[in-house]
Amino acid sequence: AWVARVAAAASVAPGDREALDTVVSFFAIAQVLTSFAATFGLLWIEAQLGHAALGRAARIDALTGLSNRRGCLDRFEEEVARARRGGEGFAFAILDIDRFKAVNDAHGHLAGDDVLRHVATLLESGKRREDGLGRIGGEEFLSLIHISEGHRLAVTVSAGVSRFPSDGEDWDSLFGAADRRLYEAKGAGRNRVVGATAAG
Ligand code: GH3
Ligand code: MG
Ligand code: MG
Repeated sequence: AWVARVAAAASVAPGDREALDTVVSFFAIAQVLTSFAATFGLLWIEAQLGHAALGRAARIDALTGLSNRRGCLDRFEEEVARARRGGEGFAFAILDIDRFKAVNDAHGHLAGDDVLRHVATLLESGKRREDGLGRIGGEEFLSLIHISEGHRLAVTVSAGVSRFPSDGEDWDSLFGAADRRLYEAKGAGRNRVVGATAAG
């Protein structure tokens, strides 16, 4: 089309030629503007995708690939919203590997990391798809478990469990109650889960 336009421009009378020049300039400007728009559009899309990827990466624990503490907080907010919309409550379980320092001391930090990854895999494969799971600290994991009859935690760690909403409705109170019970589980000999007592 450009070749045709240039060829036409060479063979027209001066009056027509001015009009043709205007049309050609118009097309040239339009083309430049279109390229700019396309380039900036693509850059913008890339920036948005990068932003979303960073957001996801900021919520993943690099060692285990589970959600990190920030990811857990997001998931917790979603679960609270779901429960408030009229869904069932949920269990808030903190799981802490027993005597993990001894593993590091005896076999080295890299072996300790392997154990962490292994425990993460075990927890991941033991939970149901709808349950939340993440690593909230060094050797501490959080599980947000949807309550159904007969569900038991079967892991080789100690756990303290609190319940939404009976033990509280925000992160701090649920974490506090679960952490107190985790401490009880440790004190009572480890390798056990302590949940709410009948008295609450
Ligand atoms: P308890 O049964 O009372 O929980 O004893 P513990 O030894 O598990 O508890 P403690 O809190 O004394 O030790 C936790 C250890 O976890 C200490 C720390 O060096 C180790 N740790 C924390 N983060 C990591 C990690 O990312 N990798 C490895 N290998 N070790 C970690
Ligand atoms: Mg700990
Ligand atoms: Mg521990």
